[in-house]
Amino acid sequence: MSKPKIVVLGAGYAGLVTTRRLSQKLSPEEAEIVLINKHNYHYESTWLHEVAAGTINPNQARFMLTDVVNPKKVRLIYDSVLEVKKDEQRVVLENSEVSYDYLVIALGFVSNTFGIPGMEENAFAITDIESSRLIAEHMEYKFAKYSTEENPNDDDLTILVGGGGFTGIEFVGELAEKIPQLCNKYDIDRSKARIINVEAAPSILPVFDDDLVSYAKKSLEDRGVEFRIGAPIKECTPEGFIVGDDKELIKAGTVVWTGGVTGNPVLAKSGFELVKGKVNVDADLRVPGEENLFILGDCSWVMDKESGRPYPPTGQLATQEGVVAADNITALLRNQPVQDFVFSNKGTVASLGITDGIGSILDGNKIRGKSAAAMKKVVDDRTLFMVGGPKLVLKKGKFRPF
Ligand code: FAD
Ligand code: NAD
Repeated sequence: MSKPKIVVLGAGYAGLVTTRRLSQKLSPEEAEIVLINKHNYHYESTWLHEVAAGTINPNQARFMLTDVVNPKKVRLIYDSVLEVKKDEQRVVLENSEVSYDYLVIALGFVSNTFGIPGMEENAFAITDIESSRLIAEHMEYKFAKYSTEENPNDDDLTILVGGGGFTGIEFVGELAEKIPQLCNKYDIDRSKARIINVEAAPSILPVFDDDLVSYAKKSLEDRGVEFRIGAPIKECTPEGFIVGDDKELIKAGTVVWTGGVTGNPVLAKSGFELVKGKVNVDADLRVPGEENLFILGDCSWVMDKESGRPYPPTGQLATQEGVVAADNITALLRNQPVQDFVFSNKGTVASLGITDGIGSILDGNKIRGKSAAAMKKVVDDRTLFMVGGPKLVLKKGKFRPF
């Protein structure tokens, strides 16, 4: 009899943790494991705002899958998933097809523009290595061009960021580090370059208490970030954002949308029932009514029984789900009971540049400043450890001993 085939789609946080744990738990005789990913590398999605600002090199935020997955235990396929045909237990890829006995969908997020006119066409988004690197290169080009022009346009030096959630605020924090460097490099007066964050809600970072939000806002303003709060973006044109009821145009040379994300469009293409772009899964992380189909990370909603609301989608959640999905698939193969997923919240930290941040950790203890920035690096290294083990932390970690 042929071995059961487990196919994992996506080598992000959830997919990579699932794959590595399956390969540790199962013997090669028990199952065949296949990991399918668009690229031959994993990238740290949680570091993408740094790549986009140009404060880290894109290569620091990625590593080859063969560095952390043993190709003798896992078949690696580098291809794009187009559709899952769940009734036929097969996955359609750009260049081939793969059948499965157990499937894990962990294809992550895409930017959500909520249908705002012109946003997709005219704004950059921070979604993967390529899109993030493009932002850094575009900004640098704008500054380089400005410095060579006879009649330069000061708007070219404005970076406009739409959305003051985690991604938008962490990104402007990095920009507050990078823009002075670019001004220095291209002999541009710092006061001419602007960083503007536009947020529709009455406050940035609504998950944090007011005192932490005030701290974050002041820290960023002191470093040159301007805020437009309570200012909904109505449209994006090639020149910038159109904001508010009076349709004010804010012009910029670099326009970035960080106003929200949703689940991978492969879910819709495959006919899954969607709630805000993602699939509601059962507590054991399976799709209701499907014995062999798990959906993880930013592609699914898992209900928090305590609050009655889904857990917020984060890298922390995705890695923890990967562990439980691997354990549940192993249990199913061995005819053992599956377990329910329970999120263990280690806290939330937002960086505000390299040496500043805010956070709420361990039963609501608040941290800010250098301690929060240090904690963010600890969290980043812990995640690296979960996806790749200690060698990866030594190679890519933010507290490297050399
Ligand atoms: P991902 O990690 O995004 O992985 C998806 C994988 O699927 C990728 O490898 C991708 O290449 C691959 N893929 C996508 N489409 C296809 C396809 N069609 N075919 C083949 N492969 C495909 N969360 C935190 O907990 N802490 C943080 O500090 C934090 N910071 C963040 C900073 C930024 C800038 C952003 C954007 C997000 C941040 N998040 C953070 C959220 C976190 O990154 C996501 O919740 C997390 O990445 C979700 O993990 P995932 O495994 O579902 O998807
Ligand atoms: P988000 O949905 O958390 O924030 C988007 C922000 O954009 C919101 O504040 C919203 O009010 C604003 N917005 C939406 N439409 C707007 C409009 N028309 N005009 C102006 N503002 C508008 O999205 P995100 O920041 O991309 O985060 C995505 C996910 O990733 C979240 O679940 C977040 O928790 C997670 N994340 C976590 C961290 C961290 O833990 N440090 C960092 C980044 C992202």
